[in-house]
Amino acid sequence: MARRLEGKVAVVTGGSRGIGSAICRELAAEGAFVYVNYASSPDAAQAVLDVIRGSGGDGALLQFDVSDREAVSKALGGVLDERGTVHVLVNNAGITRDTLLARMKEEDWDRVLDVNLKGVFNCTQAVLRAMMKARWGRIINIGSVVGAMGNAGQANYAAAKAGLAGFAKSLAREVAPRGITVNVVAPGFIETDMTKVLPDKIKEQLLGQIPVGRMGTAEEVAAAVSFLASDSASYITGHVLHVNGGLLCE
Ligand code: NAD
Repeated sequence: MARRLEGKVAVVTGGSRGIGSAICRELAAEGAFVYVNYASSPDAAQAVLDVIRGSGGDGALLQFDVSDREAVSKALGGVLDERGTVHVLVNNAGITRDTLLARMKEEDWDRVLDVNLKGVFNCTQAVLRAMMKARWGRIINIGSVVGAMGNAGQANYAAAKAGLAGFAKSLAREVAPRGITVNVVAPGFIETDMTKVLPDKIKEQLLGQIPVGRMGTAEEVAAAVSFLASDSASYITGHVLHVNGGLLCE
C-alpha cells in the first residue's frame, strides 16, 4: 500500500517521549521526513530518531523550547531554508502544573499557558507563511479531553487546551482557501509519563468512567494524527477529534 505521507516534511514538538514519540514514529512510517523536536533531552530524542531510521524512515533532531519565540523562529526558519516548507506541524509539547485554583501560583498559570498555548502560536506562526505559499499544510494540535470536560486541579491546563480548539477553529477559517487544515486531536487518559504520576486511587476512579475500560496508548493517538495529516482528511478542518475510549462523547 502506498504510504500516506511520502515526500512530506513534518515537525513534531515534544517528540522525544510519550505521545510525541509515537507520532514521530507513525508519521515516519507513513513516509514523512520527521523533525523530532525536544527541549532538553537530546538522548531521548536521538533514541526516537534511531528507531525511525532502524525502521527505514528518516528525520532529524531539532532543539527548541516552544515557549521561546526567538528560538522557535530560528530553528523553524532553518528548516524552511533547508526544505522550503513544513507540510505537517504537530503541536504536541505540553506540561501540567496541577493544583486547585485557590492555591495556584501565577507562575504555574503562566508557564502552562506559555508552553501549551503560546507555544502553539509561536510554532504555527513560524511555518504558516511557507505553508500558505506551498498551498498545502496540516496543523494538528494535541489538546485534551480536559479542555472539553474541565478537571478539578487543572484550570490552567484546561484553559490552555480549550484555547487550542478556539485557535484551530479560527485559523482553519483563515487558511482553508490555501489548502491548509487545522485540527485538534484531544486524547483522553493515555499511558505516558504525564499520567504515570497519578495516584492509583484516581486512576481507578478514571478507569471506571471510561467505557472502553482501559487507558489509551500513545499509538492510538498517533493513528488519529496520521489520518488528519493525510490527503484522506483534506475535507476535515476546524475539528476536535476525541481519542478517549468514550470518556467524553461529543
Ligand atoms: P509527556 O510529558 O510524556 O511528553 C511531553 C513532551 O513535551 C515531552 O517530550 C517534553 O519534553 C515536551 N515539552 C514540554 N515542554 C516543552 C517545551 N517548552 N518545548 C518543547 N518541548 C516541551 O506527555 P504526553 O502524555 O506524551 O503528552 C503529550 C501531549 O499530549 C501534551 O500536549 C499533553 O498535554 C497531551 N495529552 C496527554 C494526555 C495523557 O493522558 N498522557 C492526555 C491528554 C492530552
